[in-house]
Amino acid sequence: MTKDGLEKSKAAFERAKKSIPGGVNSPVRAFGAVGGTPPFIAKGKGARITDVDGNEYIDYVGSWGPLILGHAHPQVVEAIREAAEDGSSFGAPTERETLLAEEVKDAFPSMALVRMVSSGTEAVMSAVRLARAYTGRDKIVKFDGCYHGHGDYLLVQAGSGLATAGVASSPGVPERTARDTISLPFNDADAAADCLKAQGDRVAAVIVEPVAGNMGVVPPEPGFLEALRDLTTTHGAVLIFDEVITGFRIARGGAQERYGVTPDLTTLGKIIGGGLPVGCYGGRGDIMKGIAPVGSVYQAGTLSGNPVTMAAGLATLTELKRDGFYDALETTAASLEAGIVAAAKDADAEITTNRVGSMMTFFARGGTVRNYVDAKASDAERFAKFHAGMLTRGVYLAPSQFEATFVSAAHTEADVAATVAAAAAVFKEIAAAG
Ligand code: PMP
Repeated sequence: MTKDGLEKSKAAFERAKKSIPGGVNSPVRAFGAVGGTPPFIAKGKGARITDVDGNEYIDYVGSWGPLILGHAHPQVVEAIREAAEDGSSFGAPTERETLLAEEVKDAFPSMALVRMVSSGTEAVMSAVRLARAYTGRDKIVKFDGCYHGHGDYLLVQAGSGLATAGVASSPGVPERTARDTISLPFNDADAAADCLKAQGDRVAAVIVEPVAGNMGVVPPEPGFLEALRDLTTTHGAVLIFDEVITGFRIARGGAQERYGVTPDLTTLGKIIGGGLPVGCYGGRGDIMKGIAPVGSVYQAGTLSGNPVTMAAGLATLTELKRDGFYDALETTAASLEAGIVAAAKDADAEITTNRVGSMMTFFARGGTVRNYVDAKASDAERFAKFHAGMLTRGVYLAPSQFEATFVSAAHTEADVAATVAAAAAVFKEIAAAG
């Protein structure tokens, strides 16, 4: 790519820092893990984004997952315009909310009732409150390296010990709150069985990213999700699949369709809002009927079910129903994976690739990555060099090893070829620098 440098981004970043903590409204955007200046983005179209200096990038972040159709998709833009012209918010029921709920239910048969909220964090917090109310229990089981938004009791990631008491990952989370969260190794069905055997009668919910996306992509091993299903049924705990990333991403019906395991509650976000703020939770009717105004579990939101968001979501989900949509995405993603793996091999660069459909991670290490400990054993410095090299060559990857590379329907084989060529050059450059 012809790079004009990042002078304007640098200035924008300095200015932002004077008004916004770290210059960003969500921490990873600051490029802390990889160093350098984050390009400030001016616009996006299809698979490409352009920064304020005029540099163009092939974008594999896609707003961290929502943009499965790429940027500024014409149908989505039109839907947003139409909805906005009719008024952007009423705080009263609108028909688009029902239409989007029906689309979600159609793709996710396990969701008999769904409630729209404004972020994935809010969806998870609400689902957990509901599970606690439904079971009359307090404890939550999660898995190391899984992220479920920034609610207090989910910002916990215990060490690798079995069923150890939670240790908060963030100051400000009260110790007594963290104590109710148990974090276990991902893909370890035995650890989950031991934990539930010991304290199953106090566990309200087991929550999992059915394909982990927040320690980099880590797929579930055969039997892991099935074991969680059996254990929660046996011990009367609610099984929550956090499909904020995987929903409508790895199949229209998410991980539950792809792996054939049905949770009690599901959380969604990202894609269903078409790039506007959204979250959603839903599941078994008997559990969801606990939510106000039907039941007494309180959860509300001024902008929940926002008409403009609903319109963007509906336009997006409509495109996903086109014949062969996911097959085409799979083909592009598989070809990106194969190209990068071959380029790494060619340069003798050790990488491990995990991919499920259009989400994948290239870990800067060899061997297999099946849990958070494995993911953290990646070479952070080598990843940072890879990231910087790719950025210089016009490829915008997530600025952290512990994130996914997302392929959208807007990526073409030519984009993939350009990306692979860039990767080949970067791998060689890193090898030459020793
Ligand atoms: N759950 C998962 C699996 C996520 O990946 C995220 C965000 N990346 C969240 C919940 C939180 O969603 P939000 O950022 O919309 O609050």
